[in-house]
Amino acid sequence: MKQKIALLGSTGSIGEQTLDVVRRHGDRFEATVLTAGKRWQRLAEQAREFEPDAVVIADERYYGDLCAALADRPVKVYAGADAIEQIVRGGSVDTVVNALVGYAGMMPSLAAVETGKKLALANKESLVIAGRQIIETASRTGAPILPVDSEHSAIFQSLVGERTPARRLILTASGGPFRTTPREKLAGMTAREALRHPNWSMGAKITVDSSTMVNKGFEVIEAHWLFGMPADRIDVLVHPQSVVHSMVEFDDGAVKAQLGTPDMRLPIQYALTFPERFTYGGERLDLARMATLTFEEPDREKFPALEIAYDCLRRGGTAPCTMNAANEVAVAAFLEGRIGYCDIVRLIERALEQAAFVAEPTVADYQACDAEVRRMTAAMIR
Ligand code: NDP
Repeated sequence: MKQKIALLGSTGSIGEQTLDVVRRHGDRFEATVLTAGKRWQRLAEQAREFEPDAVVIADERYYGDLCAALADRPVKVYAGADAIEQIVRGGSVDTVVNALVGYAGMMPSLAAVETGKKLALANKESLVIAGRQIIETASRTGAPILPVDSEHSAIFQSLVGERTPARRLILTASGGPFRTTPREKLAGMTAREALRHPNWSMGAKITVDSSTMVNKGFEVIEAHWLFGMPADRIDVLVHPQSVVHSMVEFDDGAVKAQLGTPDMRLPIQYALTFPERFTYGGERLDLARMATLTFEEPDREKFPALEIAYDCLRRGGTAPCTMNAANEVAVAAFLEGRIGYCDIVRLIERALEQAAFVAEPTVADYQACDAEVRRMTAAMIR
């Protein structure tokens, strides 16, 4: 029987690469649900190729266009954020691949684990915002969560077969496009420069997040929830070659790592096939051809967002949700050229100072926090 996949965010970077995996292993996987935010034309093309049971376009303005484009196909067409959540809850799917970007991924992640479905999780913001609810719900319903993020996949792979808990997790970071840029020059960096990632080709938001190290900070929070590790036992190490995807240290001093080429199709495929491994047609790692592998401490003064994320993790409650919402609004403004590069972190700091804090938040509290911080950050930008 084929594994039925609901692919949320099929038109994005992770979404397209997931479809590539499905394409290569068409005898094992079937994309039964595809969703997009706005790009209805690409969604329609995908629906023609993969023949899913249903497609969802989150932006309701494009519902008519999408229906018209697929009028000759036996596919159900829905629109709106609620429709994504509903289809995750109700659909006859085995696996939900959450490749949505940002806050939009939180409710679908919750819906997947509440209904006991396997969740292949790329949308790290889900765990940043509502990690406690998602992990506690998954352990209650038995829903497996498989990380897609390459660092977390590396840690997951390094832990397979181990009975003794790990002592320390070491997340590697490429250092992004500004690793060697002098600190005083950061303020003048443009969106075009921030989008030039040295190793990975990704969506715009995560690429900017990588440059500020907000992304690495979010990955620390994600690792905390996925592997139950306290903040002070999660380290970050800059590794510009992006070959060692992350490491785990054990009590006896042994360190296990997973290595590979910087290609997201590998962790995506592993999340879908675990505990099996399927063949993979991409480029193979050739260590003899690598001149050197280097490691260095992150520059926490130049990239304060990393420490801010650690603080948010230690504070808990709605603090990570506040950081995420302010970051989403700030990154969008930066990409539109409305604020400078260093304003992104400044806006996060101001939002954390000013936003209401809820220590034991419910999902409704996250929704309220996200809306409040978005309003507040937009007002600061104006
Ligand atoms: P992209 O921006 O490339 O894709 C995002 C997808 O989500 C698109 O399909 C987009 O639709 C859809 N979308 C955007 N906004 C909404 C919304 N409000 N409601 C519903 N759908 C929406 O992002 P990435 O693929 O780069 O990243 C996806 C997630 O995976 C992020 O959380 C990121 O941090 C994580 N990740 C990404 C990696 C990568 O290599 N790209 C690596 C590791 C993690 P449309 O195309 O119509 O806009």
